[in-house]
Amino acid sequence: MAHTAAKVDQVDVALVGAGIMCATLATLLSELQPGMSFSLFERLGGIAQESSKAENNAGTGHAANCELNYTPEKPDGSVDIGKALVINEAFEVSLQLWSFLVETGVLKDPGQFLTPVPHQSLVWGEAHTRFLRARHSQLSAHPMFQDMRHSEDPAQLTEWMPLAMKGRELSQPLAATHVARGTDVDFGRLTRFLFDGLTRSQAFHLHLRHDVRGLQREPDGRWRLRSVDLDSGETREVLARFVFLGAGGGALPLLLKSGIPEGRSYGGFPVSGQWLMCNNPEVIAQHHSKVYGKPSLGAPPMSVPHLDTRIIDGRQALLFGPFAGFSTKYLKTGSYLDMPRAIGPGNLWPMMAAGWHNLDLTRYLIGQVLQSPEDRLAALRLFVPTAQLADWTLETAGQRVQIIKRDPKQGGKLEFGTEVVSAADGSLAALLGASPGASTAAATMIYLILRCFSEQAQSPAWQAGLSRMVPSYGHVLAKETELLRSVRARTDAVLGLAH
Ligand SMILES: Cc1cc2nc3c(=O)[nH]c(=O)nc-3n(C[C@H](O)[C@H](O)[C@H](O)COP(=O)(O)OP(=O)(O)OC[C@H]3O[C@@H](n4cnc5c(N)ncnc54)[C@H](O)[C@@H]3O)c2cc1C
Repeated sequence: MAHTAAKVDQVDVALVGAGIMCATLATLLSELQPGMSFSLFERLGGIAQESSKAENNAGTGHAANCELNYTPEKPDGSVDIGKALVINEAFEVSLQLWSFLVETGVLKDPGQFLTPVPHQSLVWGEAHTRFLRARHSQLSAHPMFQDMRHSEDPAQLTEWMPLAMKGRELSQPLAATHVARGTDVDFGRLTRFLFDGLTRSQAFHLHLRHDVRGLQREPDGRWRLRSVDLDSGETREVLARFVFLGAGGGALPLLLKSGIPEGRSYGGFPVSGQWLMCNNPEVIAQHHSKVYGKPSLGAPPMSVPHLDTRIIDGRQALLFGPFAGFSTKYLKTGSYLDMPRAIGPGNLWPMMAAGWHNLDLTRYLIGQVLQSPEDRLAALRLFVPTAQLADWTLETAGQRVQIIKRDPKQGGKLEFGTEVVSAADGSLAALLGASPGASTAAATMIYLILRCFSEQAQSPAWQAGLSRMVPSYGHVLAKETELLRSVRARTDAVLGLAH
C-alpha cells in the first residue's frame, strides 16, 4: 500500500497494546506532562483482552509473600531474599500509584479491582519444611516481611487454609506461612478503569482493531508506525517522537521489525498455560487465600502450582494451576507462525542455544501437554485432597513469552524476568518477558520513563510529579523502615487493605 493513501497522524507518543503496561505508562506521562498527545493501537476489539485480562493471569499482587521461586535456597541451606525485597518494593510502588489515582479521582473505588486476600505458602516433606523454616526466619527478620507467620501445626494450618487441609493425610511433616496483607488484583478491570481516565482527554486517541504491522525511522528522528484497520482494511499511519511496544507477546516481533541494534539478538520462547477453574460454589466458598507450593522438578518458575481465590469482575472464583504447555503462538489470540516468523539472522543462534541448554524445560513442557484429566486431578489433590473432577473445568490461560538473550558463554540464555529494551537515544522501548508482570507495572514504567525521557525526567517539574504519584520515589523502602511504615499506612487506608 502506498504511503500517500494512508491517514497520517502526528503525536508525541505512539503506544502498541491496550494492556496494563501501556495504560500505566500513558497515565504516568499524562500526569507528568498534561497535554502530551498519544495514539494507541490495539489489534483486538477491546481493552485488556490478552495477558492483562483477569481470566488470563493469576491476579496475584506479587509481593514475594508466598511465591517460593523468588527466594532460592543456597547450597548452605540459607535462603537468598534479595529478589523478594526488590519485588516487594516494586509492588509498594504500584500500591502508591493506585492510591494517588484514587485520591485524585481517576480510579473511583479500589475495591472494584483490588481485594485483600492472604498470601500463604504450603509445603510438605522434611527438605521443604526445613526450607520454609529458613525462609520464614530470614524474611520475618526484615521489616518488609515482619508480619509473616509460620506454623507446622495442622490445627493452625486448618484455620489458615481449611480446604487445603480437609481430608489430608498427616503422614509427613507439613508447614505453611501466612501473610495477611496479600492481594488479588483484577488487572483487566484496572486496565479498563485507567483507559476510562485516559480517553476522557482529547489528546488520547484509541484505535481498537488496528494491527501494527510495521515501523520505521524517519530522517527527522521520529518513528512512522503503520497499522491496518482490521474492519475496513485501511492503513493508518502515525508519526511519533516516542514509541512504546507494550504489545505483550507481540512486542518481540515489532522490536525486531524496528531494526534497533539493541533488540536484534533477542528471541522469545512461548509457554502456554491452563487452569482448573472450580465450578462448584460450595467449594469456592471454602477457600479465602492464595496458597503457593513448590515447583516440581524441571518446572519453569512461573508454573509453580497455586490454589487461588480470585475476584473476577466482582465475583469470587477459585483457580488451580497453571499447567504449562508449549505452543508456537506469542499471543493467546496469535498465530502458530508467530515463533517461526520471529527467527532471523540476529537471534537464530541464541534461540537454538537456549533450546539446547533447556532440554529439561522442553521435557517438562511435553510432559505437561501430555497430561490426562486424571493427572491434573492428582496435581490438584496435593492442594485440595477432597477435589472431584466434576467440580473443575479446564480453561486456557494467557500466553507468556520468555526472553531469550545472547549469552557469551552458552550462546543463548532463557530468562524468566521482565526486561525493558530501548534504543540508545530513548526514542523507542519494548517490554519483553512476563514475570513478575502486571504487579510491577508502575515501577517498570517509571524505570522506562527515566531511561527514555531522561532529560525531562530530571527537570524539577517531573521530579516533583514522580514524588507526588509515588512518595517513596528516590528512596529504597527496603532500607528505610520509617518510610515503609508511613507509605504502607497510607496505601492500606486509601486502598482498603487494612487488616
Ligand atoms: C498464566 C499467566 C499468569 C500470570 N499471573 C500473574 C500474576 O499473578 N500477577 C501478575 O502481576 N502478573 C501475572 N502475569 C503477567 C501479566 O499478566 C502480564 O505481565 C501483563 O498482563 C502484561 O501486560 P501487557 O500490557 O504488557 O500485555 P497484554 O495485556 O498482553 O497486552 C498487550 C496487547 O498488545 C496487543 N498487541 C499485540 N501485538 C499487537 C500489534 N502488532 N498491533 C496491535 N496490538 C497488538 C495485544 O492484542 C494485547 O491486547 C501472568 C501472565 C500469565 C500468562
